[in-house]
Amino acid sequence: MNVNKLEEFTLEDISELFIEKVDTILIVNAEIDSYRCISKKGIFIDIIEDSGNYHDLIEKLWFHLSNSKKITSDYQVFVPSFGKFHGKYSKRLKLVYNNIPHIIQMTIYPINDKNIYMLILDELDNSEYIQEYLTNEKINNIQNTYLFSMYVDLIRDTTNSISITEISEEPMNATELKYSNWRMMIVNMIWYEDQPLFLEHTDPDYLKKKLAPGRTTSFDCQMQNLDGKYIWVKLIFSRAETNNNDDFRFVFLVQDIHENSLEILSTLKKNEELASKDSLTGVYNHGRIETELYNAIENSKEIERPLSIMMMDIDYFKTINDIYGHSIGDITLKHFAVIACDFLKSYNIKIGRWGGDEFVAVCYNIDAAELTAIAENMRMRISEESFDTAGNITCSIGITGINKNDKVKGAFDRVDKALYLAKSSGRNCVKVER
Ligand code: GH3
Ligand code: MG
Repeated sequence: MNVNKLEEFTLEDISELFIEKVDTILIVNAEIDSYRCISKKGIFIDIIEDSGNYHDLIEKLWFHLSNSKKITSDYQVFVPSFGKFHGKYSKRLKLVYNNIPHIIQMTIYPINDKNIYMLILDELDNSEYIQEYLTNEKINNIQNTYLFSMYVDLIRDTTNSISITEISEEPMNATELKYSNWRMMIVNMIWYEDQPLFLEHTDPDYLKKKLAPGRTTSFDCQMQNLDGKYIWVKLIFSRAETNNNDDFRFVFLVQDIHENSLEILSTLKKNEELASKDSLTGVYNHGRIETELYNAIENSKEIERPLSIMMMDIDYFKTINDIYGHSIGDITLKHFAVIACDFLKSYNIKIGRWGGDEFVAVCYNIDAAELTAIAENMRMRISEESFDTAGNITCSIGITGINKNDKVKGAFDRVDKALYLAKSSGRNCVKVER
């Protein structure tokens, strides 16, 4: 075809162009359930037979290639016993062929009243379907994350238009439900620890005071979903714009933030762990073991269980640094911590690096006498270990038991004194201070 100006295009040229540009043209007779392919290109060469059964073709497009697994009214329209096309019809389908999604525009033109149609299948360009796909994703996201929405009038104490997307897309009219009653009903679905927060933030007086016209406020809590499982949700209150104080209407939304919240909580937990660890040895750092010590002593006042603490210090560690250098000193410290942890792991003992070559352990359910025996074995274990480069090393250990009236400082002074005693008694030994 050699036409350049608009005036030169004839109806024949356009028909020719139409056949050339459009991917597939089929003629369908729904009454006798058959079709014939007039032209085909692109992916349709492999998908569509030259002729065949109309019902099989639609079923193939719908169930085997498209994402849909459901018989919906959209599908039923193709089934001659259900529906008949009187006017033009068009629909977009996402067909997945060889794992690649294709967006297809399907258009049906009834030709006569005997159920004979022209059916056109046309694959849309990439850019178009990416946009379409993104829009769908967005819509899905909004539909998936907003679980529940309603309109509240605080002055009249009413709620209405509750739509629960998890149950149905149909809005459910709940005009009769008073806001005050709704609140008392919903509180039972809130995780018990979050209930006071929910009651405070949904209280009409609170909202009237806090929520200025046109403003939005929200808080997070755990709420039961339809399966009875508690999930993290964001409760959002957005007040209508008004300059009348006696007009207090707001939109209330429940957004599902569970996945995100779990991710954030796990990141926080990881960060907390990182912040608690000594970077060289991997045991608790000074701050963390000090907290452990403080909490253990405080809690022991109420718990009728033995508690004791121990302090370990490598003997003549400075010499290792002086002879082999600081990095061998580091390796030795790490190795010492690994053995100590390994040895203590079968007991309920928390260990941390107090600083330098000094370690503190909080020993739960273990009294001083029991701990002395454990510490003695550990001291022996260390003295028998062959450390890389440093060879044999020893350590000194101080121990004290915690009494009912102990204060952190008093207990710590005792264990420090016990260690001093071990050092001054020639090192490589365990001493107890009562
Ligand atoms: P004692 O038997 O009395 O405990 O003698 P010591 O040499 O072990 O004790 P001192 O407190 O005199 O020395 C501890 C040394 O530990 C001093 C310091 O240089 C070293 N040190 C502290 N922190 C580190 C570290 O992170 N890495 C290395 N390699 N050395 C450290
Ligand atoms: Mg030392």
